[in-house]
Amino acid sequence: MKIALIPGDGIGPEIIKQALKVLEAVSHKYNVDFSFTELLMGGVAIDQTGVPLPEETVKACKESDAVLLGAVGGEKWDSLPGHLRPEAGLLGIRKALGVFANLRPAILFPQLKEASTLKEEVLGDGLNIMVVRELTGGLYFGEKKRQGQGSDLKAWDTMEYSLWEIERIARVAFDLAKNRQGKLMSVDKANVLESSRLWREVISKVALEYPEVALSHMYVDNAAMQLIRNPRQFDVIVTENMFGDILSDEASMLTGSLGMLPSASLGTENPGLYEAIHGSAPDIAGQDKANPIATIMSTAMMLRYSGDLEEAAQDIENAVSRVLDKGYRTGDIMQSGMTEVGTEKMGDLIAGEIK
Ligand code: NAD
Repeated sequence: MKIALIPGDGIGPEIIKQALKVLEAVSHKYNVDFSFTELLMGGVAIDQTGVPLPEETVKACKESDAVLLGAVGGEKWDSLPGHLRPEAGLLGIRKALGVFANLRPAILFPQLKEASTLKEEVLGDGLNIMVVRELTGGLYFGEKKRQGQGSDLKAWDTMEYSLWEIERIARVAFDLAKNRQGKLMSVDKANVLESSRLWREVISKVALEYPEVALSHMYVDNAAMQLIRNPRQFDVIVTENMFGDILSDEASMLTGSLGMLPSASLGTENPGLYEAIHGSAPDIAGQDKANPIATIMSTAMMLRYSGDLEEAAQDIENAVSRVLDKGYRTGDIMQSGMTEVGTEKMGDLIAGEIK
């Protein structure tokens, strides 16, 4: 498996190093060969090449089977104009790879229940919700404009979806649901929005190809409420770009810990992009304090979706769970009576469980 590695800035290189330890353990155990190409993006790319996303990085990513990203950004580059900031690299690589499906699992390990803002009886044995957000269409990409002057000045954004855009994200979501609990919740605002009515029609039509998946529909306002009231009713949620932006943040915070949450962004022709949902955490960079678990869990997603290595992916997730069972915690998830460890040690422990 050919992997493009983008360590980036801040804690990026530290957490990517731990992911590499885990991949080394997987390589030995499952007899899989990984080859790595380390690439520049973000602040480190600005310092060395003058731009946040060098052409060579895009080219090498496209030639790989998967892209594993640390994080980018930092105060040093904050005063640069928007298109030259590290974050422009992030949007640029997502666009260049055409990743239209953003998969964000919100997993609450039972060992970390205390970190959630929800009551224990609401959480039960833990949470495992997969939010599938459409990433390249809808309100964020439709026509936007201002017109008029004075008090007549008005502005608008357009939420538009084509049938093919809905069909392709629907298939991603149904395929996922098929391999989980077989439950898919499509979230829209079909009581008000025409684009949502088309969304609902197309999702319902694609459902005919997946008789093994139970499809339901929910209005977005209700979904926002149900996520807090009874999150365990959800397995896979599929929704359009802006609704997904809001609901995936809401779902991920139910788990309470930024340092635990992975993500995958998938397209059709190019490799998938795998990254933790947190940023470069400049406040703790270089101090062996970063929690590497989100990046390690992103690595598991990479093996699952881009490597077809389901068993190894589960092995990584189980290794994380066992290390938590044994009471090891990084500072961000530390609880009384547990053993606090740094970034390196956490990486060693998880890799050790796999071996
Ligand atoms: P952040 O996610 O980097 O940090 C928020 C807080 O969470 C900080 O206190 C940080 O120490 C903590 N934190 C984050 N990840 C952690 C981890 N793995 N272990 C322990 N603690 C962790 O968000 P921010 O401070 O708003 O942004 C910092 C920089 O990161 C900015 O330049 C921002 O633009 C960039 N950013 C990048 C990405 C990305 O690369 N995907 C995403 C978000 C923000």
